[in-house]
Amino acid sequence: MYRTKTCGELRLADVNCEVILAGWVHKIRKMGGMTFIDLRDRYGITQLSFNQEVDANLCEQANKLGREWVVQVTGTVKERSNKNPNLATGDIELIVSKLIVLNPSKTPPFTIETDTDGGDDLRMKYRYLDLRRTVVRQNLELRHRMAFETRRYMDEHGFLEVETPVLVASTPEGARDFIVPSRMNQGEFYALPQSPQLLKQLLMVAGFDRYFQIVKCFRDEDLRADRQPEFTQIDCEMSFVQQEDILNIFEGLTKHLFKTIKNIDLPEFPRMSYADAMKYYGSDKPDIRFDMKFVELKDLTEGHNFSVFDSAEYVGGICANGCANYTRKQLDELTDFVKRPQIGAKGLIYVRYNEDGSIKSSVDKFYGESDLRAWIDRFNANPGDLLLILAGETEKTQKQLSELRLEMGTRLGLRDKFNYKCLWVVDFPLLEKDEELGRYFAKHHPFTSPKPEDIPLLDTDPGKVRANAYDMVINGVEVGGGSIRIHDSELQKKMFATLGFTEERAQEQFGFLMNAFQYGAPPHGGIAFGLDRLVSIFAGLDSIRDCIAFPKNNSGRDMMLDAPSKVDQAQLDELGIMIKEKK
Ligand code: ASP
Repeated sequence: MYRTKTCGELRLADVNCEVILAGWVHKIRKMGGMTFIDLRDRYGITQLSFNQEVDANLCEQANKLGREWVVQVTGTVKERSNKNPNLATGDIELIVSKLIVLNPSKTPPFTIETDTDGGDDLRMKYRYLDLRRTVVRQNLELRHRMAFETRRYMDEHGFLEVETPVLVASTPEGARDFIVPSRMNQGEFYALPQSPQLLKQLLMVAGFDRYFQIVKCFRDEDLRADRQPEFTQIDCEMSFVQQEDILNIFEGLTKHLFKTIKNIDLPEFPRMSYADAMKYYGSDKPDIRFDMKFVELKDLTEGHNFSVFDSAEYVGGICANGCANYTRKQLDELTDFVKRPQIGAKGLIYVRYNEDGSIKSSVDKFYGESDLRAWIDRFNANPGDLLLILAGETEKTQKQLSELRLEMGTRLGLRDKFNYKCLWVVDFPLLEKDEELGRYFAKHHPFTSPKPEDIPLLDTDPGKVRANAYDMVINGVEVGGGSIRIHDSELQKKMFATLGFTEERAQEQFGFLMNAFQYGAPPHGGIAFGLDRLVSIFAGLDSIRDCIAFPKNNSGRDMMLDAPSKVDQAQLDELGIMIKEKK
């Protein structure tokens, strides 16, 4: 037997018991004639104690161990004279009588500690060592529990988990596909699924009624902190439902996860239309942990020969409570912030509503006290507040103002990671126009149903059509999104036409779906959650990478496996692939 107990479970009640432990040497401390070793496994750390005077040989053996050696020890549990309240096993130690080295270890390239000295690249290369760190392991334990509780909830609500294939056909769904060459059909390719969207809809046609799957999806996109080329979705679909049914079931799932994992009871999720989200927060994923809604001023600013405002389509701002005393330097910092190329504002206008009731603005030349007072009234500002105002083209300026709002929220400490505020954003537009290409794209995907009352607009003003589509947002992060689908082959055809597909191309790519719709497709809809994002929000992580066992780096590379990598010429020949020489 390798062990009778784990390194995390011994307590005072076990004193005088003889036990066997196995694990990794975490730390060695020599003090006079004593040697103490912290022995670690997944479950915790137990202190081992060796006494030179009692057994010199054994102590000698212990002194020869190195960090991360794998050992097995037999010993007797004793109460510690020097207890460690930070350790679950801190009341006891093991007086070792026998020590066996199961496997020595090279000195690890970084310390296996919460605050490790290892840089990102090094930790990625030795991910199996990084995973030994408690903080990293805890993220994966959390992920396991969330996936497990998801399965429990879905099962309790009658959902069947069905696996869909990983080798599918390439379909345009927004992002680029990863493709896989076929050896048996040279010159032809599979694609890895960006999501099981069409397959889950076919499962509804098949009468499965309620489907879910915790499933890997693949998108060949440029990477950011919250993106990975492969990621995991909690993918769901339901038949004979309306939007309301779906929102209820999945608000329920989210509440179930918060309750079982974090013991948090969430109140009912507010719902906000896409139009309001843009108007008041400049974002389709508003962070509602704090208020600071946009206030529009255009009508109050006209007729004062201030060309910046006069030429702007939109003038609007936010009110930062208690910031009237911001220094010149702080205001300059904010101006630099909005002028950064990623944000792209031309400048920032401020109005200080001082504690003493006086007003000072950066546009005093153009606006008198009574004008500024009208602005202050519209903002409902109080003495001590600071108004920050941007102007320009509506959509662009709202986005810039959104960044400024988040920055102010951060500066004012209003974005506590562990204060969870969830909401639904609903009534998304069905289509989005690419101004450069001069054509419409599906905002969600081409299978999303327009709101029935907006269908006539498809012919007259497609940009105005609203969809039965919804996103769940937590703390400014989109954690899930879905829609009621089109289940009528004629409407689906019309949608493809609106998106600029010729009939032949629609038939070629989606013929199977439109065909299926002719065999009794039930009304249906669904949603998919990003599991990685959900876990990172629960864990309070900045990057989804930290809750993925073997993530890729920012260039989409697995540093440990060194993937992607070259393959043998013979393998390429079999696939009929010729690699173009790089010039
Ligand atoms: N397939 C969609 C996505 O991956 C989610 C859905 O509509 O259910 O975003």
